[in-house]
Amino acid sequence: MKHITLLAGIMLAVLSCTMENPLLTESKLPYGAPPFDKIRHEHYLPAFEQGIAEAKAEIDAIVANPAAPDFANTIEALENAGETLDRVGGIFYNLLEADTDDEMQRIAEEISPKMTEYEMYVSLNEPLFERIKAVYDKRDSLGLDKEQYKLLEDSYKDFVRSGALLSPADKEKYGQYEEELSLLCLKYGKNVLAATNAYTLNVTDEARVAELPDFVREAAAETAKAKGQEGWTFDLSYPSYSAFMKYSTDRELKKQLYLAYNTKAVGGGNDNLENVRQIVDLRIKIANLLGYPTYADYAIEDRMARTPAAVDGLIRELLEPSLPAARKEVAGILAFAKENGFAEDALQPWDFSYWSERYKDANYALNDALLKPYFQLEDCIGAVFGLAGKLYGLQFEERSDIPGYHKDVKVYDVKDADGRHLALFYADFFPRESKRGGAWMTEFRGQSIVDGVEKRPFISLVTNFTKPTAQSPSLLTHDELTTLLHEFGHSLHGMMAEGRYGSQTGTNVARDFVELPSQIMENWAFEPEFLDGFARHYQTGETLPADLIEKVKATQNYLAAYFQVRQLQFGILDMAWHSLTALPEEGTKEFEKKVLAPTAVMPDVPECCMSPSFSHIFSGGYSAGYYSYKWAEVLEADAFSLFQEKGIFNREVATSFRNNILSMGSREDEAVLYRRFRGHDPQPEALLRKLGIQ
Ligand SMILES: [Zn+2]
Repeated sequence: MKHITLLAGIMLAVLSCTMENPLLTESKLPYGAPPFDKIRHEHYLPAFEQGIAEAKAEIDAIVANPAAPDFANTIEALENAGETLDRVGGIFYNLLEADTDDEMQRIAEEISPKMTEYEMYVSLNEPLFERIKAVYDKRDSLGLDKEQYKLLEDSYKDFVRSGALLSPADKEKYGQYEEELSLLCLKYGKNVLAATNAYTLNVTDEARVAELPDFVREAAAETAKAKGQEGWTFDLSYPSYSAFMKYSTDRELKKQLYLAYNTKAVGGGNDNLENVRQIVDLRIKIANLLGYPTYADYAIEDRMARTPAAVDGLIRELLEPSLPAARKEVAGILAFAKENGFAEDALQPWDFSYWSERYKDANYALNDALLKPYFQLEDCIGAVFGLAGKLYGLQFEERSDIPGYHKDVKVYDVKDADGRHLALFYADFFPRESKRGGAWMTEFRGQSIVDGVEKRPFISLVTNFTKPTAQSPSLLTHDELTTLLHEFGHSLHGMMAEGRYGSQTGTNVARDFVELPSQIMENWAFEPEFLDGFARHYQTGETLPADLIEKVKATQNYLAAYFQVRQLQFGILDMAWHSLTALPEEGTKEFEKKVLAPTAVMPDVPECCMSPSFSHIFSGGYSAGYYSYKWAEVLEADAFSLFQEKGIFNREVATSFRNNILSMGSREDEAVLYRRFRGHDPQPEALLRKLGIQ
C-alpha cells in the first residue's frame, strides 16, 4: 500500500514539471539524443528528485513482489531500476566536468547527500538482498545463459563485498570501520595537502637562480611576489619542484628541496606516519571481517588479476630484468655527468633529474616545436577516424541537427561497416573556463537492451588542445596526439559495446583491464606507416621526415628501465602494506625502507619516506591497485605485438580484438576474453621488448 501512495505523489510531481523539463520528457531528437539546447540549470534538481523517487519505488516494487524471487523479477529488475536517474546523472555529472559554473557546483553539493542516501537505500536493503541471495542460491538450476549468470554473480558479490552476509553485530562493526577509515583517509589527504603548502624555498641571491631558464625564474618570481617575499620562491607543487630539480646546478638547494618533497607529512604538524598504520590496520580488520586473510586478497578478487600472488608474480617478472638495466642506466648518467664536470663518486637522488635531462639534451635532439607543425588537429582527427575505418570499418558523419552541450562540441553519427548506427560521438577539444584540465572519455548513455529495445551509446571525448587562431591552426604535440589516440581507444570500447545489461557493457570492466583498449591505441602514434598517412607540415605540405619519427621512437624508451623500476617500487610498497595480516613491529619509515631496499638504484636518504604522502593508495582509490598501471601496460604491449606480427592495419586481428575485447565489456571474465584474443595469458616479455629491456 505504502509504495502506491508514493507513486501517486510522484505522478502529481510529474504533471507539474514535465511540461517544461527536457530531462524528464522523451527526447524527440534522432536516437533519443540529449536535448542539450533545452536543458537549463533549474531542470536538474527536480529531475534528480524525481529520478531518485522513481528508482526507490522500483526497488520497493522488487522487494514487495509477492511472486517468489527469480532472475527476471529480481536481478534483471534491479539492473534496470533507476533509468531516469541514470539518464539525468549521466548528463549532469559529465557536464559538471566539461561545462561547469558555480551554479552547477552548488547543485552538485545539494544533490550529493541525496545520492548517498539513495545508494545506502539500495546497498543496505536487507529484504532486497534476501531476494538476490534466494536467486543466487539456486543459480545452477535456472537455465541462465552466460551473461545472465555473470550478472547474477556480480550483483550478489557486490552486496556480499559490502557486508550483506554479516551478522547484525558484525555489520555494525563493519559500518564503524568503514566510517573510521573514510575519516582517516580524509585526514591523511588533508595532511598531504597542508604539508605540501606549508613549505617554500625562498632564494634572494640572484647567482643561485642565474642558470635557470627564464620561464622557471619568472614563475618563481611571481610566486615570491604573491607571498610578499623578495627574490624567487619555489614550492612543492610539481611544476615548481620538477623544474628546479631539472635545471638548477645548485646541489645544496636541490638537496633542501628534495628533502622537503620526500619528507612530506613525515613528522611535524601534518604527520601521517601514524595515520598510515591506522589505515592499514583498519583495512586488515575489514578484510578479516569479510573473510579474507589480507586487504589485498579482498581488493584484487574482483579484478582481472584475481589474486595477490598473480600481482606479485607480474612485479617480479618485470623487476628481474629491469633492475640491472635501471642500474646500468643510472651508471650511464653518472659517467656522462663525470665527463661534464660532476666531481662526486655517486649521484645522489637530487642530482639525477638535472643530469638525466642534460644527457637527454645531448643525445636526443627532439622537442615539441620540431614535431608540432606536422600535427594539425583536423588532420589528426581525420587520421584517428580513418584508423577506426581501416581496423573496424567505422564511419563518422558529422550531424549538425543534433545539439552539443557547447558551441565547440561536434556531434558525429558513428556507423558500422554495414551502415548500422553504432553510437553518437561528442568531440570537445578546446579549453575554456568551464572545463577542467586534462583529457578524458565519458558517456552520457551506455549501451544496453531493455525489454527488447536497444539503446546505443552516447560517447564523449574531451580534451584541452590549443584552439586555432586566425593566424595559425590548432597544432598538437606528439604527446597530445598520443592522448587523442588513448581517449579515442576508450571511446571505441564504449561505441562498439554489444550486450544486454548496462553494468556489463562498454568500459564497465575491471580496473586492471579498462586501460587495455586505450593504451593499445597509443602504439599507432609511433608507427611510421600510420604517421606517413596524414602528418604533413601545415605550411609546406611536406611529410614527416623519417629521422624525426626515429627520434620519437628512441626518446620513448629513454630511461625506460629506470622509470619502470620506479613504478614497480610504488606497486611493491602498495602490495607490501596491503598484504599484511597484522601491523608490523617496526614504524612506517622502517617498514618502507625494509620493503624497498632490495630494489634501490640510488643511495638511500635516511630522512625520506613516501608512505605518508602516497595519496594514490592511502586516500585515493588505488589501494592494492597501483599495479594496475603496469598490468595494463603488459596487456597492451602483448596485445599490440599481434598487430605488429600481422600488420598494424590487419583486419583479421582487428576483428578478433573487436569481437573478443571491445564489444564484450565484462560479459565474461576478462582473463578469459584476453586469452581468447591473444591465445595465451598476458606475457610480460612483450612489454620488456617494447621498452628495450632484456
Ligand atoms: Zn585511460
